[in-house]
Amino acid sequence: MDYFSYKDGQLWAENVPVRQIAEQVGTPVYIYSRATFLDHLQKVQNAYSDIDTTICYSIKACGNINILKFMAQAGSGFDIVSGGELFRAMQSGADPSKIVYAGVGKTDGEITDALKAGIAYFNIESENELENLICLAQQQGVKAKAALRVNPDIDYKTHKYTATGQKETKFGVDIERAKQVFVKYGKNKWVKLCAIHVHLGSGGKTIDPYVTAVETILPLIEDLRTSGYDIEMLDLGGGYGADYESNSVPSAADYASGLVPLLKGKNLELILEPGKSICANAGIMVSRVLYTKQSGAKKFVIVDAGMNDLMRPCLYQAFHFIWPTNVSGNLVPTKRAKDIELLGTEVVDIVGPICEPADFLAKDRAMAPVRRGDLIAAFTAGAYGFTMSSNYNARGRAAEVLVDGDTFTVIRKRETYEDQIALEK
Ligand SMILES: *Cc1c(COP(=O)(O)O)cnc(C)c1O
Repeated sequence: MDYFSYKDGQLWAENVPVRQIAEQVGTPVYIYSRATFLDHLQKVQNAYSDIDTTICYSIKACGNINILKFMAQAGSGFDIVSGGELFRAMQSGADPSKIVYAGVGKTDGEITDALKAGIAYFNIESENELENLICLAQQQGVKAKAALRVNPDIDYKTHKYTATGQKETKFGVDIERAKQVFVKYGKNKWVKLCAIHVHLGSGGKTIDPYVTAVETILPLIEDLRTSGYDIEMLDLGGGYGADYESNSVPSAADYASGLVPLLKGKNLELILEPGKSICANAGIMVSRVLYTKQSGAKKFVIVDAGMNDLMRPCLYQAFHFIWPTNVSGNLVPTKRAKDIELLGTEVVDIVGPICEPADFLAKDRAMAPVRRGDLIAAFTAGAYGFTMSSNYNARGRAAEVLVDGDTFTVIRKRETYEDQIALEK
């Protein structure tokens, strides 16, 4: 599932010991495995090879320019949600005809840039936005294609902050309303509305919501086609599972086995926007233990990474498997799971240095014992890890390192104090 594994009690990223990177680059540090990114991308490419499919990796999950470069070279397109991500995508050498742009609040400036870049599809989230896109396209004298983001009203069974496919979210338009949008704008000569987009949410663990979504959308597409609208593409969004715990979610091939038979022979291009299923397992976040302390019945491990570095635990109560990078043989983890049972573990809260009670990486967690100076790795930290990090408490953002075989490269320097005030001068 990824290229982070223990050999003789020591954690390696591909063929480099994690400790060596931490000692050279410092902590906290995000460490990515190039082979894992490419392996996950290729698995999706292979799984859908029977139908015309474009994979648009979701930049917001993990968008370092150096990563986007090799992903673009490996044939990936990109899913963007802002002008900043468009800029990154274009700088990475991406093929604009493989870029799709979602987001409920695209500004005029962002839309204009995307029109000029010649992206494949604008994923439209409201009629008001579509009117504005038409207006800007006409002003620029540039034609564009759009997909209508539809809410199939499916319960995705994920954290409430990551479900996006139900009624009464701010995303997309209700499925009952979709036809009327086509009636109103489906024949516009500047913006060709010729596709449907759905994105159910993030962090689901089963295939069913996707199957239900396709089964709900296909009749709509049929109906639209019968009414004379040319529907070329279905974009199924992202949200495919990532193994935060060992073997806990369907593989790309599992998803495809549910979806490809439904879509085959339908004369529809398929676009997928995987984010975390590509990058979550491709990254770990390594930090150093500063102190340990006992407080009543609780033992705390205080590390040098905080919620500003890895926000998912405090934002979504997300689980990251956390383990020391160097352990004795009997304490090498047998799996990554909440319920790991190994003799000699201790139950601890792993917390950061930030002045907020929400600043934790894990609570009541069984982990191999650590002491001051030890290194710990938060696994499956590649997605929404670095990209959600901030300078809160005037902490410089962590360094990012890319491992490729037996070499590693700093692909983003650790921010200095000077970097932090540079724009304030
Ligand atoms: C965030 C997002 C994705 C990626 O979601 P993952 O859960 O990381 O796969 C894809 N498409 C859209 C529109 C998104 O907002």
